Amino acid sequence: MLLCAAALAEPPRKIVSEPPPQSTNSAMTADPQIVAALKEVSAERIQATIQKLVSFGTRLTLSAQDPASIESGHGIGAAREWIKAEFNRYSQQCGGCLEVKTDSFTEQPADRIPRPTVITNVYAVLKGTDPQSASRIVLVTGHYDSRNSDTFDINGDAPGANDDASGTAVSLECARVLSQHKFPATIVFLTVAGEEQGLNGSKHFAEMAKEQGWNIEAVLNNDIVGGDRNSQQDASVVRVFSEGIPAAATDAELPRIKALGGESDSISRELARYVAEVARTYDAGVKPSLVFRLDRFLRGGDHYSFNQQGFAAVRFTEYREDFHHQHQNVRTDKGIEFGDLPRFVNFYYISHVAGLNAATLASLASAPAPPANVHVLTKDLENDTTLTWNASPDGRARAYEVLWRATSAPDWEHAERVGDVNRATLKISKDNVIFGVRALDEQGHRSLPVVPSPER
Ligand SMILES: [Zn+2]
Repeated sequence: MLLCAAALAEPPRKIVSEPPPQSTNSAMTADPQIVAALKEVSAERIQATIQKLVSFGTRLTLSAQDPASIESGHGIGAAREWIKAEFNRYSQQCGGCLEVKTDSFTEQPADRIPRPTVITNVYAVLKGTDPQSASRIVLVTGHYDSRNSDTFDINGDAPGANDDASGTAVSLECARVLSQHKFPATIVFLTVAGEEQGLNGSKHFAEMAKEQGWNIEAVLNNDIVGGDRNSQQDASVVRVFSEGIPAAATDAELPRIKALGGESDSISRELARYVAEVARTYDAGVKPSLVFRLDRFLRGGDHYSFNQQGFAAVRFTEYREDFHHQHQNVRTDKGIEFGDLPRFVNFYYISHVAGLNAATLASLASAPAPPANVHVLTKDLENDTTLTWNASPDGRARAYEVLWRATSAPDWEHAERVGDVNRATLKISKDNVIFGVRALDEQGHRSLPVVPSPER
């Protein structure tokens, strides 16, 4: 077949690219109430909390919890009673706004549990003020149990100032500060035991939450956020770990995650990105470094118990750990100081981490519920993208934003506000980017984004 010359000629070259991002209102705006709350976070209060927790000698889960030990201020029972009393004291300062509760159970013998042991999680609930939003929960947790070199040593000192009185202090300080304010959704301030014996406390709590149908949108686990004063520490950074492929993903969900390149879009990863956005909006004094893995090598933490039940949960941990100061008997050996003592931690750093947690909890508890049933339409082969969703179930959304980023980008790159609608079409190919949709209330508080699932 003969082709005429014109058909062979290359057509005039056009620069073809995606349209420039229309990033309108893409940034979170600071809420004066949250700015005010952040100013209340106190390094002195955190120091007092940690010193009190260390004063119990050991908080090993297997240590004493009989009335005489509690009376004498030694062992995990005394720590538990003090935490309860502290939550109650905060509650008195806000007209009884906190409901202080325990989740107590007997763990049967296992690897690190030699005999039946009562484990008690202590928590305080700041109920949401909006009837439609109060069932939505954001939660902060730390573990109040400690250990030394021997995880069965029920008497030896286990100060656990960093691991994890620091995280316990974050939960308590968030409760003290945020209970002076009101939020539409519910905030739970949790401290768990049994972490060092095998995440027993958090496992029981997360299973209870799942069984009772709690609508937990976010879990912030603080474990080793003391900012150990070693020479390689960077006190301007806190690591935030988040799982990629969800531990709770079903056999039916896994192929879709693989097919769509969804390995970096678990609900926990979206929560980690949300923490990063909060840190850009509020100056807490510390910046999150997002680590895209569940946890550090050889280590685990309570966020995993929540991940296993399908909840979004991330772990905060200091930038650089000193392993001489964790899980060690207090001693000096060849000039090296071992043990998890208060003088190795940085109370200002912990107050900054507490501020970042408080701002994240407050932002989420102020925001509308995320949109529901978010879909990307895939009926036809086309280069535009149409997204659909149902209104936020708590009825507080006044607008929605579509977010997107290159598949190779770690964080959201663009946002477009699309108004109070349930459908949007963008001149961007769904093949090239990852989309999310989030809800905004009247003041501009953002919900967690939801990544759409394909709908034919
Ligand atoms: Zn720990």
